[in-house]
Amino acid sequence: MRVLIGLEIHVQLTALSSKLFCPTHSGYRGGNPNTYVCPICLGLPGTLPVVNRRAVEYAVAVAKALNCEVSDRVMFVRKHYFYPDLPKNYQITQYDGPGFTSIARSGYVRIFVDGRTKMVRIRRINIEEDPGKIHYVGGIEEAHYSLVDYNRSGVALLEIVTEPDMDSPKEARIFLDKLIAILEYLGVTETALEGSFRVDANISIEGYGRVEVKNIGSIKDVEKALTYEIVRQRRIIEQGGAVARETRHWDERKGVTVPLRAKEFEEDYRYFPDPDLPPITISNDMINMIASMIPELPDHRIERFMVQYNLDEYRATVLVLSKWLADFFEEGAKMYSNYKRLADMIITDFLRWVKELSIDPKRLSVKPYDIVRLLELLDKGVLSIKMVKELMPHVVSGGINIDEYIKLVGYTRIDDEQYLEQVALEAVKENPKAVEDALKNPKAINFLIGAVMKKTGGRADPQKTKDILVRVLEKVRNLEE
Ligand SMILES: [Zn+2]
Repeated sequence: MRVLIGLEIHVQLTALSSKLFCPTHSGYRGGNPNTYVCPICLGLPGTLPVVNRRAVEYAVAVAKALNCEVSDRVMFVRKHYFYPDLPKNYQITQYDGPGFTSIARSGYVRIFVDGRTKMVRIRRINIEEDPGKIHYVGGIEEAHYSLVDYNRSGVALLEIVTEPDMDSPKEARIFLDKLIAILEYLGVTETALEGSFRVDANISIEGYGRVEVKNIGSIKDVEKALTYEIVRQRRIIEQGGAVARETRHWDERKGVTVPLRAKEFEEDYRYFPDPDLPPITISNDMINMIASMIPELPDHRIERFMVQYNLDEYRATVLVLSKWLADFFEEGAKMYSNYKRLADMIITDFLRWVKELSIDPKRLSVKPYDIVRLLELLDKGVLSIKMVKELMPHVVSGGINIDEYIKLVGYTRIDDEQYLEQVALEAVKENPKAVEDALKNPKAINFLIGAVMKKTGGRADPQKTKDILVRVLEKVRNLEE
C-alpha cells in the first residue's frame, strides 16, 4: 500500500520589520497581548491595506531558490471564514485558479534519500497574512472562555505547498530539513522562533481518503504525526473500513492525532479578488535583480564542499544543512587542512554537545579556533582522544582558552619531557625498594612506570616514561658507584 504525503508549510517572513499590509512592527514575540496592532491589522472599517514591497521581494527570492516559475502579477484574494482570530472575517491571501494566480508555482526541491536523489515538486507559493492567536485559558479542553491576541495578525507568511511526492515520514523530514536550510540561507526567516514555522500534512494511502493533520509545530512532530497516521489508516483499511476525509489535530503530549472537523472544501471559502489591493506587475528586471542577489544555496555548497574539501556527500550535507555549522567548518578549514578530521570532530563530538547543552548556535562563545586547537594537540599527541572528549563540553559551553584550561585542571602535556622527568624523579624518590629491584632486574622498571602513570592520571606517554626512567636509573646507578 503506497503512502502519499504532501505538505503545506507556513513560514513567517521574520526578517521583515513590519507586517504585510501595515507599518506595525512585526517583532511581536515577548510583547504584551494586543500591543503590536493598528487599525489596519485589526481590520477596522475604513482602513486600507498597502502591500509591503519587501515581502514580495522575499517571496520572489524564495520562489527562485525553489526553482519555481514566478508570476508576473501579484494578486490578492479574500478567503472567507468566520473565526475570532480573524478580525475581518476574511484572510488576505493568494489563490491559484481561473482568473487568479499565486506568486509562484511549479518548482522543486532536490533531496537525498538513502543514497539517491529525489525531486519533491512545489505546487505553488502564496503570500498571505497570519491570523491572530487564540488563548484557551487553562487549556483547550478545560477553558471556560478564550482570549484573542492580534499581535500576530497581519504578519507576512509564505504558504509553500508541495505535490504529494513524499512516500514516508522520513522523506518528509528530509524535505523539511532541506527547505528550512534554503530559507535560512536566504535569510528571510528564522525558523527557530516560536510559531514561525507550521506544517499541515496531507496523508493518504493510495486509493483511500485523504487526511489533513493541521498546525504541526516542528519537523520532529511532523515525522511522528505521519508515522502515527500511517498506522491508524492502515488499520482501518485492513479492517475493511473507509478512511474518513477529515482534518485532524496532532496532540504533541499524547502523541496521537484527533479529529478536528470535517474537511472544508475550497468553495466554502468564497474566494474573490480583494478590491483594496489592485494587482501589481512584477517586471522581469525585478525578478532578475532579485535572483542575482541570492546567496550560495545548500545544493551548490554541498557540491563545493565535496570538491574543495574532499568530503563525501554525507559529511558535506550534514554540515551544509545547518548554515552556522557550515560557516563554522569553513572558518576552521582556513586554519587546519585535514578537512575530514575537522568535519568529523564538528559533526560528532562538537555538535553533540551543542545539542546536549541546548546552546543556541547564535550565542555560542566557542570559536572554530578552539576546535582546531584541540585537533592540533591531538595530532601532536599532547591530548588523547579520550581527553579531547572530556574537554569538549567545557570547550563548547565556556569558550575557554584550551591551553590555559589544560594547565589549570592538570591535564599534563604527556610529551613534555621535562615534566615527565620531574615526575619520574619523584617516583624514584618515593619508591627506594622498587629502584633497588629495577637496578638489578630491568623488568622491574614496570612498577616505576606504573607509579608515574598514577601520578599523571594515566596521561603520561608509556614509551617516553620508560625512556626517561631508564635514564634516571642510569644516573642513580652512576651516583651509587
Ligand atoms: Zn498594523
